[in-house]
Amino acid sequence: MRIVIKVGTSTLAHATGRLNIRLVEELIKVLSDLKNAGQEVILVSSGAIGMGVGKLMLPKRPEDMPGRQAAAAVGQCELMYVYDRQFMEYNHTVAQILLTAEDLDDDRRRLNFENTVFRLLELKALPIINENDTIATEEIAVGDNDTLAALVASAVEADLLVLLSDIDGLFTADPHKCPDAKLIPVVEAITPEIEALGGGKGSALGTGGMVTKIRAARIATEAGVEMIITNGSKPQVLYDIAEGKSVGTRFLAEGRK
Ligand code: GLU
Repeated sequence: MRIVIKVGTSTLAHATGRLNIRLVEELIKVLSDLKNAGQEVILVSSGAIGMGVGKLMLPKRPEDMPGRQAAAAVGQCELMYVYDRQFMEYNHTVAQILLTAEDLDDDRRRLNFENTVFRLLELKALPIINENDTIATEEIAVGDNDTLAALVASAVEADLLVLLSDIDGLFTADPHKCPDAKLIPVVEAITPEIEALGGGKGSALGTGGMVTKIRAARIATEAGVEMIITNGSKPQVLYDIAEGKSVGTRFLAEGRK
């Protein structure tokens, strides 16, 4: 199975912007094990800006574009350093790919990207993808990694896209506000009612929120890729997902309902 896994800043880092070491180590262990079991794994990782904020000891995420770009340039190095070192423990080789929306819109560049990913998978390397935040000005940026992950999953014809989030899945109402909100285990079609559940807001360091996740679900499912939103606080759920167990919210792919 070819799985694209997206991990957000709120999962990778503490609210301070510094790395959540325990979580990242668990995630890397599980991903390494899935690869050992023969799964094709592609990671879409946020955290460049958040970790740059932490490493530069900035009081908060910069509001201006050059500030965010500088933070991303610092943080992306740190992020890949952590992945490279930790995956090495389990004998896995990582490969960094940085993309902008323009790369995926342009046929020739997208083809180059796809060919590189396919070759990396043949070589048993683990592609780790992020937006190229240092050059992605607003006009050419995908803007959030939920959408980026969905575009990547469609381009590489993944079987499954998993968004690891700080929430258990999609609820019938905002669970922070409504204590009796219920988790929706399966979404068969992205109706206006489902879209209305998107609500607002992401975290202080990341970009996403439920709106971008539902947009990602639309892109992925229209391309025939099933998508799961689940809580990333226990990376072991990825074992259950690989075994087809019901976890979080599953958006059924079009044509596979
Ligand atoms: N590309 C951004 C980063 O690495 C994250 C975007 C997002 O949080 O969706 O910091």
